[in-house]
Amino acid sequence: MSETERAEEVRLAVYGGFARIGRAPGAAELAARTGFDNREVRQALELLHQTRDLVIDTATGDIVMAHPFSSVPLGFSIMGSRTLWWGGCAWDSFAIPHLLRDEPDVLVATRCPACDAPHAWVARRDTPPPGDQVAHFLVPVAHMWDDIVHTCGNQRLFCSTGCVDAWLKRTGRRRGHVMDLPTLWRLARGWYDGRLERGHIRRDPSSAAAHFTAAGLRGAFWGLPEH
Ligand SMILES: [Zn+2]
Ligand SMILES: [Zn+2]
Repeated sequence: MSETERAEEVRLAVYGGFARIGRAPGAAELAARTGFDNREVRQALELLHQTRDLVIDTATGDIVMAHPFSSVPLGFSIMGSRTLWWGGCAWDSFAIPHLLRDEPDVLVATRCPACDAPHAWVARRDTPPPGDQVAHFLVPVAHMWDDIVHTCGNQRLFCSTGCVDAWLKRTGRRRGHVMDLPTLWRLARGWYDGRLERGHIRRDPSSAAAHFTAAGLRGAFWGLPEH
């Protein structure tokens, strides 16, 4: 078996663990599930990190993210019918019912980063959640992978554009992109299709651009024309 084939087995075991129990399997569990030794598992995780199929802590080898799943809290929790997850970010949290066949709707909960107000939605597969809240994404697409944990940690949901502005002022940051809940839902819908299946290949830039356009997104933030 080639290194790439081993990496795909480990990727499937990681995604399977997140989907089933809401957390990343540890190295010993991955070795038991795949039949690889610890060194092979570690090599596979490093390869998957390089190809951006997973995010690992390169010091410890621990799995940090397998989008849309996360091992670390980034502001969202997601409750399914049997499983509880950390949501990676606003985008990832709303993507989970689209990815998991057994979870057609989940409870997504967060707090407004500006005023700490609690917000919760039932995120469904068939229709966008109701609400006047807005999502703010800080880091433009071209730089999302410079520090993906920072990027996801700053894709948050706010009460209103007023709360976005207050938060930007308080943190000294420049406004990224603000979208309403239906746009966020369309962005999340289908973005991670196929991640639980063998042989999945990540989207290339042209497929990503087509998805963003179909979701109704425009402009340099998304690497797209303004109109
Ligand atoms: Zn607020
Ligand atoms: Zn994310």
